[in-house]
Amino acid sequence: MKTIGVLTSGGDAPGMNAAIRAVVRSAIYHECKVYGILRGYEGLVNAKLKEMNLSSVADIIHRGGTILQTARCEDFKTEAGRKKALNVLEVFNIDGVIVIGGDGSMTGAVKLNEMGIPAIGIPGTIDNDLAYTDYTIGFDTAINTVVEAISKIRDTSSSHGRVNIVEVMGRHCGDIALYCGLAGGAESIVIPEIPHNIDEICRKIIRGKNRGKLHSLILLAEGAGNAMELAKIIEEKTSMETRATILGHIQRGGSPTATDRILASKLGARAVELLLGGKSNRAVGIKCNAIVDVDMKEALTIEKTLDMDTYNLASILSI
Ligand code: ATP
Repeated sequence: MKTIGVLTSGGDAPGMNAAIRAVVRSAIYHECKVYGILRGYEGLVNAKLKEMNLSSVADIIHRGGTILQTARCEDFKTEAGRKKALNVLEVFNIDGVIVIGGDGSMTGAVKLNEMGIPAIGIPGTIDNDLAYTDYTIGFDTAINTVVEAISKIRDTSSSHGRVNIVEVMGRHCGDIALYCGLAGGAESIVIPEIPHNIDEICRKIIRGKNRGKLHSLILLAEGAGNAMELAKIIEEKTSMETRATILGHIQRGGSPTATDRILASKLGARAVELLLGGKSNRAVGIKCNAIVDVDMKEALTIEKTLDMDTYNLASILSI
């Protein structure tokens, strides 16, 4: 293995830059040439690449977003698009590719392996929706961003005696809402994995009010309902002023936490080691605090399940 390509794909996540830095620096340390592929698979299909050196990744470990930029590329999902990508890899003599992204991006990486290009996947997504790893790069930063926002919302909710619904990202996976609900002391957590009972949510709010609570907080994952509609129903049923806050894209930005930077650095270095060791079709991750690598195709078939212990604990503590 002499030349490696690296790309970021799908939704961006804080810590992707730290992962790019780790890939580039580890590869150069091992005397490999590295190309940064711009805008995910789009850059691979359309030959948008740049050679990376030590300075290309200087001063980025603390920066959110991705210096390689990211995109969603429909072309790469077609055989014709992938053929174009293969030609580009041949022209630039790229022997292996490291893909940083979510499950869709890793599905693309599996296709690269099937075309005979060794590829390794690094989990980069704020959603934490990949079952084979305990955490994905970006998740820790995102939950810290949300918890900081909750603290601010809590101040104003208490002053006015309001109920506040905070909608966070998570179409299919409620991890952001679950972890932030626990860390932020939410009364109720509404996530796609667990059916919610609106009357139980309202009963909790009224019980809290009756024992002198100044505000109530509900964490809602975007895939579990509509914050505005929920606010209207709660206001009607509890007679308490209820507001909805949709945090949106601020969850995807910001300087990565130390935890995300460390995870990204370790996973980036491991991905390079695997490629140089002749491995392909591996996804790197963290399990029980150890860096692991698993078959990427198999990893994508594992169904993500909710951490019920954490959910039950959050329910007990918000009684
Ligand atoms: P996020 O978790 O932030 O949504 P993701 O990596 O899951 O990130 P997707 O939009 O699902 O984001 O996928 C990113 C890109 O990966 C797609 O735009 C496409 O280029 C590539 N990709 C996804 N699925 C496939 C597939 N079946 N075959 C080839 N490429 C794919």
